Amino acid sequence: MSDFRRRHLLAVLAGVSVLGMGSGGALAAPSKRRPKSVSKPTPAVPMDKPKLVFLDPGHGGRDPGALGSRGTQEKTVVLAIARDLRRELLAGNRYRVLLSRTTDSFVPLRERVARAQAARADLFLSLHADAHSDRDVRGASVYTLSEEATDREAAALAARENRAGASLSGMRLSEQPDNVAQTLVAMSQRGTVNDSRRLADTVVATFARNGVRLLPRTHRQAGFAVLTSPEIPAALVELGYLSNAQDEKLLTVRQHQLALARALRASVDAYFGTGATRKA
Ligand code: ZN
Repeated sequence: MSDFRRRHLLAVLAGVSVLGMGSGGALAAPSKRRPKSVSKPTPAVPMDKPKLVFLDPGHGGRDPGALGSRGTQEKTVVLAIARDLRRELLAGNRYRVLLSRTTDSFVPLRERVARAQAARADLFLSLHADAHSDRDVRGASVYTLSEEATDREAAALAARENRAGASLSGMRLSEQPDNVAQTLVAMSQRGTVNDSRRLADTVVATFARNGVRLLPRTHRQAGFAVLTSPEIPAALVELGYLSNAQDEKLLTVRQHQLALARALRASVDAYFGTGATRKA
């Protein structure tokens, strides 16, 4: 095959795969045969598909995450809110939504990242609810990836989240991100670092507007393994502290779960409405 013919064929295949993603999977089969050398859809193809939002309810299965004094499990609370958020996002017909897990199942952190990358998500939101040794600490906080943690608490949180299920599944902390520096270089080349910061700041602003209680210095940074997709703007949201009695109670109240889901949907709307996308 001549070089020209091969290039032409690759361009056609890339076009087919883009159309396949945009039409609800009806043309999905050819995308499986997409050659590896074509990693990005060609800009020449008109992009009129809804953005793909990847939601990552933390923990699951044998890894319950943080535990509240009334027995609330982080994995249960964040899955409920992720499902609410999926419903909220789908209601406006503006997004496609994928969840890293839809049931109480264990999914390793790297698998979550891999699934979002394979699906070519436009946005990655990891949902959590932490515990703190000081039971008075309460409020939501938002995290993005960095090599150096902004503070000791953010570093400790990242270490806890990166350990998710590692000891339970017999892994020797294999979830520790060993490539944060490398990922950050790739992320800044693609503008993903700035987009992730903007995403986090948008969530903070939207939470504040919607009366969601926030930690001081709400947007923090640390080396979270689950935020290491070079191409996907990503943030990890701690929705509150299960170690705090009031937060624990709120996080189990349906009305509050729905309010958090709506505030997160408004964040996603605001993020995509401010220049990250070009209107078709
Ligand atoms: Zn967590």
